[in-house]
Amino acid sequence: MIKHHLHPEILLSYAAGNTSSSESLIVASHITVCSKCRREVETFEKLGGKLLEESDSVDVNASSLDSIMSKISDHVSVDNASDVVSTNAVFKNIPSVLRKYLPDGSNLTENWSKGIGGIKYFDIDLGNSNQNTRARMLSIPPGKKLPHHGHESQELTLVIQGGFSDENGSYDVGDVAIEDEKNIHTPISDSKEGCICLVVYEGNLKFKGPLGPILNFLKI
Ligand SMILES: [Zn+2]
Repeated sequence: MIKHHLHPEILLSYAAGNTSSSESLIVASHITVCSKCRREVETFEKLGGKLLEESDSVDVNASSLDSIMSKISDHVSVDNASDVVSTNAVFKNIPSVLRKYLPDGSNLTENWSKGIGGIKYFDIDLGNSNQNTRARMLSIPPGKKLPHHGHESQELTLVIQGGFSDENGSYDVGDVAIEDEKNIHTPISDSKEGCICLVVYEGNLKFKGPLGPILNFLKI
């Protein structure tokens, strides 16, 4: 059962088409497996539609139309939100909205880049290098303890397989860890399965989330 959810603010932004591609990807992936957050998004979407219907006229000039269209094109589709099981057993339980960005292979992490200590990573190309949030898949071996550390900006981590725990509790498949400048913690990956997760973060070089110390150490 999912214990850690996305905040209503980001679900509202997503429903309004105001999240970046990376944020949209993590929201779409989470609501594939989380009916609670999916219902909230649907409620926000209905509310938005109702507001539009009730407005007498909408003044749309060329620049606001461009802005609306770019937001729509940035919005990751959730048409297949209920489709979580691939026919390929290797990719079982990977949300289809995320699966389509990952490379093929005989196992999930085949064709991912190799780091030290058995860590693997894969940068997801959403074709939007001008946006300030990025998405990266990360595979951490079982029982890996990370240094005690804090954060300088928001980072979202969605557990895809396995999990990790820290002072705030344990994070299993479907859970989202939301880290910001207020959080200081010491995460450790699941002792049996390790952790495969999707990390969405701000900025270009510095990782500050639960898995940030490993990423910074790898200089990747
Ligand atoms: Zn949720």
